[in-house]
Amino acid sequence: MTRLPNSGIPNPTSAPEVVVASPDRWMSELGALLKELDVTGFGEQLLPTTPEEATDDQLAKRRLGIAGSLFAALQCKHAATAGHSMRVALTCSAWAALQKLDERNREQLEIAALLHDIGVVGTPDQVLLKPTRLDSDEAAIVARSRVMSMEILRRSCTSAEILSIVEHVGAWYDGSRLGTPLKGDDIPKAARMIAIVEAYDAMTNDRVFRPALSQERAMAELFHCAGTQFDPQLVQQFVEMIERDRGQFRKQVATRWLLSLDARTSDGYWDFNTDAMPGTATTSPLSLFEAKLLDNMYDAVIFVDAQGRIIQWNHGAERLTGIVGASICGQHWHPEILKLSDEKNHPIGESECPVLAAIGSGVQSLRRLTVWGRNGRSASVDSHVIPVIGSGGTTQGAILLLHDASSEITLEQRCQTLAEKATRDPLTKVANRAEFDRVHDVFVTAHQQQQVPCSLLMCDLDRFKSVNDTYGHQAGDEAIKSLAALLKGACHAGDLVARYGGEEFVVLLTDCDNASAARRAEQIRVALSQLSQPKMNGKSITVSFGVTEIQPGDTPETMLRRADRALLTAKDNGRNQVVQLGSGLNAKPQEASGGFFRTAQKAEQDVLVEQILVTPVPTKMAIEKLRGFVADHAASILKIDGNKVQLEISDKCESRFRRTTDRPVAFQLDLRFEEQRLQRTTDGGNSTDSGAVRTRIFVGISPRKSRDRRRSDVGDRAQQVLMSFRSYLMAIPEDQDGAPRQGTLVKMTQAFLPWLGKK
Ligand code: GH3
Ligand code: MG
Ligand code: MG
Repeated sequence: MTRLPNSGIPNPTSAPEVVVASPDRWMSELGALLKELDVTGFGEQLLPTTPEEATDDQLAKRRLGIAGSLFAALQCKHAATAGHSMRVALTCSAWAALQKLDERNREQLEIAALLHDIGVVGTPDQVLLKPTRLDSDEAAIVARSRVMSMEILRRSCTSAEILSIVEHVGAWYDGSRLGTPLKGDDIPKAARMIAIVEAYDAMTNDRVFRPALSQERAMAELFHCAGTQFDPQLVQQFVEMIERDRGQFRKQVATRWLLSLDARTSDGYWDFNTDAMPGTATTSPLSLFEAKLLDNMYDAVIFVDAQGRIIQWNHGAERLTGIVGASICGQHWHPEILKLSDEKNHPIGESECPVLAAIGSGVQSLRRLTVWGRNGRSASVDSHVIPVIGSGGTTQGAILLLHDASSEITLEQRCQTLAEKATRDPLTKVANRAEFDRVHDVFVTAHQQQQVPCSLLMCDLDRFKSVNDTYGHQAGDEAIKSLAALLKGACHAGDLVARYGGEEFVVLLTDCDNASAARRAEQIRVALSQLSQPKMNGKSITVSFGVTEIQPGDTPETMLRRADRALLTAKDNGRNQVVQLGSGLNAKPQEASGGFFRTAQKAEQDVLVEQILVTPVPTKMAIEKLRGFVADHAASILKIDGNKVQLEISDKCESRFRRTTDRPVAFQLDLRFEEQRLQRTTDGGNSTDSGAVRTRIFVGISPRKSRDRRRSDVGDRAQQVLMSFRSYLMAIPEDQDGAPRQGTLVKMTQAFLPWLGKK
C-alpha cells in the first residue's frame, strides 16, 4: 500500500479503506433524528433497535433503491467498510450542497460515494481482518478491490457518470498513480471530492494498528498531499467546510435523504446490464483476441490469481480434465482438483504444488506430471507454470499450461530411459555430476535475472575411508544411499540433488537464502548423525556441509568454489558441521564511477572499470575476504607493493557471458587498500576518533591484453568481475557511503605475506 508522504499513514486513496467499526457521532445523531422523524409521522417501517445499523440501512435504501441490496452485501461482508462508505457519502452530500451542485450531479456523487468500495466484498477475510499492517502483496489484493467495484457496478448501474466517478476515485491529481490515466481537472470532480473525503475519514477513524488521527493532523496531511494526490482547491474548500460548524450540513443531509429522496427514483439508476458481462461489448478488442486464442487452444490453460482463485479455465482444460470452466472458475486452486501427481506418480500436495510455488516465489517450472483426465483416465501432461508479475514487482498469480503428452509418452519413455541413464547416478538415483553442471548453469542465470536467492549445499561424508575399511564396500554404498535419501527428502519443488563424486553431494536450493540453506543443511546433518546404519552394526556416520548463497557477479564456477571452500573449512574445523560463506544476493551491483585510477600500471584507454569502494571492516578483514575472491576466481597474484595488489583473473570458466566459441579474456585488477579511522563530531563541534574503522579500496579493471579492449562484450565482463569483487568484499561505492575520508594505515604486505607463504 502506498503512503501519504511523510505521514506513515496508509494512503487512503491507493486502495479502498479497511476501517474498523467505531461508534460515530454522525450515525448516532442521524439515528436520533430518524427516531424523531418517525415520531412525527415519517417512515413506513418500524425502526430496528440498533440505531447505527438501522440508520445505515434506512439511508442506503433511500439513496440506492433496489441497489440497497449491494450495500447490504457490503455490510454483511465488512460492516466497517460499509460504515466508512456511508460516512463518506453523507459528507460528500453535505459538501455538494455547499458547492450548490445541481441535483443530478449531487445524486451521482452520493451514490458513487456509497458504493465506491463495494469491491471489498471480493477481498479475502484474512486480508480484510488482518490485525496488523498489510504487506505489499496484501495491499495489492486490497487495491484490486477497486477493479472489483467496477466489475460489480458495471453489471447493474445504468449511469456512465457514476461508473466514471468510481473508476477514478483512486486517481492522483498529478497523474502520478500507475494505472489511472487521468489527471488534474480531467478526473471527474466527484471522484476528486470522494478521494479527499475518504482520506479524511480513514485518517480520523481508528484502524486496528493505529489510532485515529486528530482532525488537525488529518487536515495537515490533506494539505501536505494537495497538488500531488488531491485537488488543491478542493482540499482548501473541504477543510474550510470541516472547520465550520457541521451541524447545519448534517441536518440538511439527513432531512434530504430521509424526507425528500424517493427510493423509486433511485431505482432509475439500476438495471441488469448484459453488455457488461465479461466477453461482451465492454471487453476491449485485445481481450476478445485473447479470449478467442484461449478458447481455440488445444492445450489446457488455467489462470490462478494471487489469492489462489481460478480465474480462467479454457476449453482445452475442459477437454483434458472433463471439468467445466463455469463450474470451477472462482474456486480455490488445489492440486487435488486435477489429482496432480509427480514424475514418479506420487500425489502432489499443496506444499509441492508448482502453481502455488510459482505464486509464492515467482519461479517458473517445467515438469512432466500426471492429471486425472476425463473419463476417469489419468493422462501425462507437460506442465509449464509461469508466474505473473505485476509492474510493481508483486506476483499477481500464475498461468498453468498443460500439454497432453499421452501420445508422445511411449516414444518419450524410451528416450527418457536413455536420458535417465545419461543424467542419473546409478547407485543413488539422484542426478549425476554432468546433469548438475547443466542445471547449475541455468539455475544461476535464472535466479540472478529474477533477483531471487538460491543456495548451494556441498557435503561430504566424514572419514568415509575408514567406513569402507571397517565394514566393507557394500556397507559404504548403503551409507552413501542413506545420505542421498536424506538429501532428497529435504528438497522442495525445483531443488536438485546430485552426486558430485564418491561420497560427495551437491544440492541446489531454489528461492532459498544462506540462512535457510544452512538451517536445512543442519537438519540433514543432525538426521544423518542419528540414523543407525544397519550394515555398520547400527552405528551412525556423520557428514560435513559447505553452504553458500548466490551473490551479485557470481558464476556457477565461483559459487561452486565458494561452497567447496566452506566445506573444506567444515572439515578443517573438525567435521560433522555446517559452514556457510558469502554475502548473498543483497550486495547489489552499482555502476562504475571514474577517473582516479589512470595510473602508470595501465594506459588510460585500457582501464575498463574504475571505482572507489568502501567496506566497513578493517583492512585485515578485507584481505581475508580478498583471499576468498582470489581462490574462487582462480586468480593469480601478479604483484604486491605495500598497500597495492595486482591480480590476474581469467573468465574462462564464466560461461554466462560467454559463447563456447569465445576466447576467454584475462583481466588485470589493480587494487589499493587504505584503512580509515572514522571521526565523530562532538557536541562542541570538534572532531574526535569514533573508534570505528573502514577500508577504502581503489579498484581498476583492465584487459591483460590491449587487443581484448576492442571486443564488444569485454565491458560487460569487467563489470561482472567488479560486481563479484564487491560481493566478496561486502563493499559499496564510496559515493554511497556517508563516512568522512581521512587517515591511512597500510597493512597489505604484512597481511598477505603469510598467505603467500601458504600458497
Ligand atoms: P573426510 O572426512 O576428510 O572426507 O575423510 P574421508 O575418509 O571421507 O576422505 P575422502 O572424502 O577423501 O574419502 C572418500 C572415500 O570414499 C574414498 C573412497 O574409498 C570412498 N568412496 C568413493 N566412492 C565410493 C562408493 O561409491 N562406494 C563406497 N563404498 N565408497 C566410496
Ligand atoms: Mg569424505
Ligand atoms: Mg570425499
